[in-house]
Amino acid sequence: MSSMNPVPVTPEAIRSAPKVLLHDHLDGGLRPATVIELADAIGYRELPTSDVDELGRWFTESADSGSLVRYLETFAHTCGVMQTTDALVRVAAECAEDLAADGVVYAEVRYAPELFCENGLSLDTIVEAVQEGFRLGAQRAQEAGRRIRIGTLLCAMRQNARSLEIAELAVRHRDTGVVGFDIAGPEAGFPPTRNLDAFEYLRQQNHHFTIHAGEAFGLPSIWEALQHCGAERLGHGVRIVDDIKVDGDGTVHLGRLASYVRDRRIPLEMCPSSNVQTGAAPSIADHPIGLLTRLRFRVTVNTDNRLMSGCSMSSEMAALVDQFGYDWADLQWFTINAMKSAFIGFDERLAIINEVIKPGYAALTS
Ligand SMILES: [Zn+2]
Repeated sequence: MSSMNPVPVTPEAIRSAPKVLLHDHLDGGLRPATVIELADAIGYRELPTSDVDELGRWFTESADSGSLVRYLETFAHTCGVMQTTDALVRVAAECAEDLAADGVVYAEVRYAPELFCENGLSLDTIVEAVQEGFRLGAQRAQEAGRRIRIGTLLCAMRQNARSLEIAELAVRHRDTGVVGFDIAGPEAGFPPTRNLDAFEYLRQQNHHFTIHAGEAFGLPSIWEALQHCGAERLGHGVRIVDDIKVDGDGTVHLGRLASYVRDRRIPLEMCPSSNVQTGAAPSIADHPIGLLTRLRFRVTVNTDNRLMSGCSMSSEMAALVDQFGYDWADLQWFTINAMKSAFIGFDERLAIINEVIKPGYAALTS
């Protein structure tokens, strides 16, 4: 059973390996060319440039500013061109195709429907358009020889007061692909406890939710998300390292909250490049993902916003391989962690692990 001729862990080989993505924003993953074409089609005049390459660079540079608030400003443009059903169908279809082409076999893609209501689309119309796009994109991917399954998460924005309404929307569409709920947006000043009624409702409906917590803000945000709101996963969760002490001799001490997160196998949806851009981590090399992986937290690797970070699922994994020397066994571990933590049913998760992920990595290492 030992591997005789493992394929070297190159970026190209990583692209071919099956990958699972739990944290990816629909409005953070548009193709630059699509942003420009949609802007032309609807008469949106706010883009900084109509050159595809320049626009791509503008997004990553703006997001590189080191501030979460400025990072979020880049979304004014992507959301600005996603205000029609045609645009939503196209963006969702291209998202599914791009992820499949990158070797992603299962993805949970999230978005906040309330951001696409500017021209009067109803929340239900928005959800239906995005679902149609994912269906189309997955079908085109399959025609190109790639299988991808996409689950949708609906986000409520922390600073708005619509979380219960969005939670009800998520439950209404649960049988047509909406697998869970999230809250996103600025953490400081908007604790998740402001949305308790939404989380209470979701638990009573046996529906799933994750919460963006511990990205820009520290341990209290993580603690509230878990112990007040009942989050099943943590979006980012990077600051859990503030509850871990490593002595000079390498001895590790976990605080009560860090122990709880590890003991309960609470999934951390870590997004290395995005965390560096927003200042939640100093660099990939010094990203807490290294320590948390070594300590066997339930770490998952994610893209967050592929357009703003100029990244893909493969490039995120390749960056980790570069910095931490991870091998195929590590990449399979991240992938199975993510699949175990997905919000689709147990049978389906198990089938993807046993029929797609394990054979995929076995083929690379034997
Ligand atoms: Zn996010």
